[in-house]
Amino acid sequence: MLGLMQDWPLLVSKILDHAAINHGNREIVTRTTEGPIVRSTYADLHARSRQVAKRLQMAGVKLGDRIATLAWNNTRHMEVWYGVMGIGAVCHTVNPRLFPEQIDYIINHAEDSYVFLDTTFLPLMEALGDKLPTVKGFVLMTDAAHMPETKLRDVICYEDWLAEADSDFIWPTFDENTAAALCYTSGTTGNPKGVLYSHRSNVLHAMLANQADTLSMTSTDVMLPVVPMFHANAWAVAFAAPAAGAKLVMPGPKMDGESIFELLDGEKVSVTAAVPTVWLMLLNYLEENNKELPHLNQVVIGGSACPPSMIETFEEKYGVEVFHAWGMTEMSPIGTLGRMNAYTSSLPRAEQLAYKAKQGRAPFTVEMKITDDDGKELPRDGAAFGHLMVRGPAISKSYLKGEGGDILDADGWFDTGDVATIDSEGYMQITDRSKDVIKYGGEWISSLELENVAVGHPEVAEAAVIGIAHPKWDERPLLIIIRKEGTNVSKEDILGYMEGKIAKWWTPDDVTFVDEIPHTATGKIQKLALRATFKDYVLPTA
Ligand code: AMP
Repeated sequence: MLGLMQDWPLLVSKILDHAAINHGNREIVTRTTEGPIVRSTYADLHARSRQVAKRLQMAGVKLGDRIATLAWNNTRHMEVWYGVMGIGAVCHTVNPRLFPEQIDYIINHAEDSYVFLDTTFLPLMEALGDKLPTVKGFVLMTDAAHMPETKLRDVICYEDWLAEADSDFIWPTFDENTAAALCYTSGTTGNPKGVLYSHRSNVLHAMLANQADTLSMTSTDVMLPVVPMFHANAWAVAFAAPAAGAKLVMPGPKMDGESIFELLDGEKVSVTAAVPTVWLMLLNYLEENNKELPHLNQVVIGGSACPPSMIETFEEKYGVEVFHAWGMTEMSPIGTLGRMNAYTSSLPRAEQLAYKAKQGRAPFTVEMKITDDDGKELPRDGAAFGHLMVRGPAISKSYLKGEGGDILDADGWFDTGDVATIDSEGYMQITDRSKDVIKYGGEWISSLELENVAVGHPEVAEAAVIGIAHPKWDERPLLIIIRKEGTNVSKEDILGYMEGKIAKWWTPDDVTFVDEIPHTATGKIQKLALRATFKDYVLPTA
């Protein structure tokens, strides 16, 4: 017997309709690529997105066509995003921080028919334009007054192009399993792989994001997603904020401490989200300029491990609650978020901090388990660690064009490539990427935990740990440090500081100081590059 409820396909255009009807006056504030801060509303976004949709159809764009964007978080990007998805075309957000060869590869692999780009990325497209045969036009997301001189072929001025359509347009209806958006993973080895979201997965994931124990945005919130729309849907914010009616503050191209502070303060932002490196810049700026964060209530930190010292600084010095989150492009991307539950909220502060440093609990629709090398499930005791496996309706079942083959096991679980523990309260803690864990004889040492402890030293700006080949022990840890400006911390100071905070046999065999640690296009420490730099390093214990 079938249920007798209405058949209402879960389409992302429904999110925008809802925002315009119920929260039409709620603002979207953008720092534009041209410079000034501009204001619009969800009602404006609704109208402009339908205008984009109509204009795309006039250009012959159909269901299933791929349209690329190379753009910052801004209103024009939002209207292209909803306009493209709204007609059943696929919005392919390209990460401009990838290497040019990777950008060339993914646009060709996706067979994008148009590229919408902010003027920032014109030089990039000028260099690549002739290598992208499927692209019929490059739409520069600016107005006639700001159109730069360019030799790029088939250039179109966005505002002139858009003005050829009006917003009198009704969203088409189609199957909720239709592809909506495409985002390539910045794999450390091999070519990037395409993660293809559907309308259904995006709508379900927006609802997951707004669960009370997850991002939990409401119509009174002011959300500043520093995390880019090209990094896994701005961690759901581009869907979840309009679904909630939260005011959106878009940082555009500027993510330095001063620019982010200006928006946090000026727009009275209540909740914000980004990777730890962004927050390092902000915290440095606040400290150097004696600034406070009176309006901010919550900061979501994820993408790579958030050091406990960062959680303490935000919470104790600035009164801002930190939620550590974990996820991945393949998970739309939210996998866990570390809010306190009934048990942990009753604990003394010091014990709570230990839970806050974990990556958090799974929201409804994310299933999670850890397994050993033979695929046997390990206990949820906070001690056993193993391969972190996930399942759910907003998690990939395959990559675009079947790249990488079957990615699910016989029971439908996806191996995240992370190694983790899960405790009896459901809090998951990442121990390492399986590729980065240090193999010490038969034991594993977590590079991540060593980094977290080292970065707590007041004179350490950033820390990375890699395994170095050891004649007796397989691998031993090397700690790589960037000192804070004007300090001269020594190896002995740092190892002394770490003593007692880690197991003795985890103690790094050596500490080396550098000026820079390389990061990937999504802000993670590039362990592969570090391992290449230090491949001939000889440990003093060798
Ligand atoms: P991406 O798809 O680029 O977002 O990368 C996903 C990967 O980033 C995960 O599989 C983790 O290895 C890592 N990651 C994301 N969030 C965290 C976190 N909070 N702590 C540690 N690693 C994280």
